Amino acid sequence: MQKNYDLVIVGGGPAGLAAAEAARKNGIENMIILERDKELGGILNQCIHNGFGLHTFKEELTGPEYAQRFIDRVKELDIPYKLNTMVMDISEDKKVTIMNREEGLQVLQARAVILAMGCRERPRGALNIPGGRPAGIYSAGTAQRLVNMEGFMPGREVVILGSGDIGLIMARRMTLEGAKVKVVAELMPYSGGLKRNIVQCLDDFGIPLKLSHTVIDIDGKDRVKGITLAQVDGRGKPIPGTEEYYSCDTLLLSVGLIPENELSKEAGVELSAVTSGPVVNESLETNIPGVFACGNVLHVHDLVDFVSEEAAAAGKNAAKYILGNTDTDSGEKVIPIIPTSGVRYTVPANIRVEKMEEQLKVRFRVGAVYSKCYVSVYLDEERIIHRKRPVMAPGEMEEILLKKEQLQEHEGLAQITVKIEEA
Ligand SMILES: Cc1cc2nc3c(=O)[nH]c(=O)nc-3n(C[C@H](O)[C@H](O)[C@H](O)COP(=O)(O)OP(=O)(O)OC[C@H]3O[C@@H](n4cnc5c(N)ncnc54)[C@H](O)[C@@H]3O)c2cc1C
Repeated sequence: MQKNYDLVIVGGGPAGLAAAEAARKNGIENMIILERDKELGGILNQCIHNGFGLHTFKEELTGPEYAQRFIDRVKELDIPYKLNTMVMDISEDKKVTIMNREEGLQVLQARAVILAMGCRERPRGALNIPGGRPAGIYSAGTAQRLVNMEGFMPGREVVILGSGDIGLIMARRMTLEGAKVKVVAELMPYSGGLKRNIVQCLDDFGIPLKLSHTVIDIDGKDRVKGITLAQVDGRGKPIPGTEEYYSCDTLLLSVGLIPENELSKEAGVELSAVTSGPVVNESLETNIPGVFACGNVLHVHDLVDFVSEEAAAAGKNAAKYILGNTDTDSGEKVIPIIPTSGVRYTVPANIRVEKMEEQLKVRFRVGAVYSKCYVSVYLDEERIIHRKRPVMAPGEMEEILLKKEQLQEHEGLAQITVKIEEA
């Protein structure tokens, strides 16, 4: 039997919850959140450290506390949700196939869909590290779940490969739980994590960070006994003679996050080769009219506050779409935003000026570390933003604000360019 919904939200993490709240507050009644886990809150449930919500609530909350605020709002607004429910498929005409133990397989027909499935960690298989397959190799997020939610310690002597935020946070967590974290190794010449996490999670605990280093061998048959680190050259190739052996029983991998877009791909959503997330316009709408995306499924965020803000916009825009205040593809000119000279991507990737709000936040990441540089924005050849930045790094998301009036005033606007310019 098929059920009809105005709005189906896939994923009950912070993105799904904030999108749901905004959609309800903008007039959508007939909606549902679908979550495969046994509770709402997403990845935040395992992030028991503080540091969440500084922007949104001007308070330092733990992950579960931050999530609970949004869960409470969803409950107050009486927004229905299904837990332990896996979304199996989304079709181009927005039929959402779901599965759970109580109701089996069901098909929901949606008028609009918000994709909020988050992301997953890149596994060891993606790395080609030589050596055996002993026990003791975990992704940092799996170790985080084991320690913080299941009550298991993955090991006592730890090496961490990758200095993304999860790796940094787990270096501190494992230390606080009594393990010895010997080193964090990073392939790139810069860390992939937030500066504040390097200070608070490594420096404060005397844990060394070795940049331009990688694991070239894993020793151990049944359980990890040690690993060999080596320095790498500019192309990421190990430099002979720089090998160092570290004895350890655990290797944690924090080597990148991948937006979970298998469902999006099946639905025919166009994905960006840079972010692995959907290509969206100013309304966070994908190439399929009425299918919106937000949160880590769209692009990997470092701060949940920005996830909530972005998701609220997706919820509001989905409501507009459903209530017919906007008809997609009604022939407006689509202006591409071109990321160049150090800017890897932008979200959104294009803008219909007539459809944008008075102001639009465009988020992006840079591809390397820059110091004393400028973020510049051009409307065709005219430079409209030239903002000095003391330092920019790939680990920190950046943003610029575009004003509708300014874009409207620029006659015959064909493209917007975002770039880094040297001082
Ligand atoms: C270790 C770690 C530390 C962090 N530390 C901080 C910090 O200190 N401060 C901060 O601000 N941010 C931090 N973040 C970032 C923040 O937690 C994320 O940006 C945020 O959780 C992303 O929200 P999301 O809803 O997009 O994704 P998620 O939280 O991953 O939620 C996605 C949800 O979708 C569900 N789902 C996926 N596929 C399906 C499907 N097919 N069917 C049904 N449900 C599905 C998942 O089960 C999940 O619940 C951290 C993240 C991690 C991983």
